[in-house]
Amino acid sequence: MPIGPDSVVTFHYILKDENGTVLDESEPDEPLAYLHGHGHIIPGLEKEITGRDAGDALVVDVAPADGYGEYDEDLVQRVPRRELHGIKDLAAGMRLQAQTPAGTHAVTVTQVSEEMVTLDGNHPLAGKHLHFDVRIEAVRAATEEELVHGHVHGPHGHHHH
Ligand code: ZN
Repeated sequence: MPIGPDSVVTFHYILKDENGTVLDESEPDEPLAYLHGHGHIIPGLEKEITGRDAGDALVVDVAPADGYGEYDEDLVQRVPRRELHGIKDLAAGMRLQAQTPAGTHAVTVTQVSEEMVTLDGNHPLAGKHLHFDVRIEAVRAATEEELVHGHVHGPHGHHHH
């Protein structure tokens, strides 16, 4: 069954950056399952998977605009270190949940000095050209319940009830 809106797609992937460095990959016995057409995966990947079928292998190159977005300098801010006094072992590379008037969002600590801390609100993959090796393992129609919930249930779904 070709992949279209409301297909449940199970796939394996290897994600590399422009230099061929592996950034992420599915576990051998744990493919990723998602509900197609609901924006659960990045647009550049979802578009290329549309119309494919179980058993297909494909290579997908995704530009930042179709991936995790362009890198936005305005999302980088420096804050006095004392504002983060509650956080233990503050160090570059740490991911934090920042409280803002618009809600919480994830930031990455990129620099820590005596007085100041630099926080980057960009997605870690923002601005990157991404290279995916994808293998479609299975395709099926979503159940009524999955469509109501807007996500996949079952062994490889992203949560269980
Ligand atoms: Zn659910």
